[in-house]
Amino acid sequence: MTTAAIIVAAGRGVRAGGDIPKQWQTLGDRSVAAYAMERFSAHPAVSQLVLVLHPDDIDTHLWPREPAATIATGGATRAASVLAGLHAVNEDVDRVLIHDAARPLVKDALIDRVLAALDDNIGAAPALAVTDTLWHGVKGAVEGVQDREGLFRAQTPQGFLLAPLLAAHAASNGRETDDVAVARAAGVDVAIVAGDEDNIKITTPADFVRAAKLMRQDMDIRCGNGYDVHRFGPGDHVCLCGVHIPHTRSLQGHSDADVGMHAVTDAIYGALGKGDIGQHFPPSDPQWKGAASHIFLEHAVALAKSEGYGISNVDCTLVCEFPKIGPHQDAMKAVMAAYMGLDSDRISVKATTSEKLGFTGREEGIASIATVTLVKP
Ligand code: MG
Repeated sequence: MTTAAIIVAAGRGVRAGGDIPKQWQTLGDRSVAAYAMERFSAHPAVSQLVLVLHPDDIDTHLWPREPAATIATGGATRAASVLAGLHAVNEDVDRVLIHDAARPLVKDALIDRVLAALDDNIGAAPALAVTDTLWHGVKGAVEGVQDREGLFRAQTPQGFLLAPLLAAHAASNGRETDDVAVARAAGVDVAIVAGDEDNIKITTPADFVRAAKLMRQDMDIRCGNGYDVHRFGPGDHVCLCGVHIPHTRSLQGHSDADVGMHAVTDAIYGALGKGDIGQHFPPSDPQWKGAASHIFLEHAVALAKSEGYGISNVDCTLVCEFPKIGPHQDAMKAVMAAYMGLDSDRISVKATTSEKLGFTGREEGIASIATVTLVKP
């Protein structure tokens, strides 16, 4: 089965306040919709991400360009917007997950439950049983009590086999408020899977506060360390943290021997639990001979991103007597920041001598140690 996730972001979200639609407002360090996009993009079962936009938003910078998504133009109703998304899926897709862009806290476990239910059902959607007592109220007074037996609060993603859902939309009168209603109107049964209390839909300004609080609770924070050494040999420069520094000797190595960049790269692989540079770029492979080390660093950064992690900060220490690092520190930070797609104030490059002790003290080589922090919201 091939699954596409359709993020419906074509609404105007007037109840949330603010100058721009709620899905483009910032929560933490990115837009509300970006979180949902990242969750589905990083899910191993999802092979295509479709983002349905309001026509007025298409030519703006409101929507995230990453993770990569197929863009569809929404219509006048939610049903029309979803249909535009369904028409944008790749030919090999046979299952779709339709998700509100305003639900940024969707988790893998919930997505897994919906997908598992689709093995035996044409449609499946998460919901939570209503546990509060429900009242009818008139003019601020309780008029009666509604039986809550069998009542559920619906959530997304709502999952369907593609062909029956397309047929249901074709037969729809366009007035249904979600895809479960569209499917049911066409006679398709929709299984209920357990929803998640944290999978809230941002509707009012207070929901932003609640979502931010929930995000802080389940943030996945990882730390990694890296250590590297290269020996000196003949030459006239060294390359440290991407900066070319004239010197009386050069560092020897299979690549450009950028010991600082290697330590940072290994720290990222370490935080991910995904081996080290030698494993991803074997020295026995001639294509990496003399390679610029930013290739390794960019690979590690992309791997972190593909697993849903952002890099929070980097701290790299170079251990050598010479060359002097101080004059080049700012340039190193700027170069590393550019390759990693970070602000340079999230990167530290510092240096120490080893008081003329050991191999670094005898100027036989340069060592580097690095720490990185990765955060998955
Ligand atoms: Mg190395």
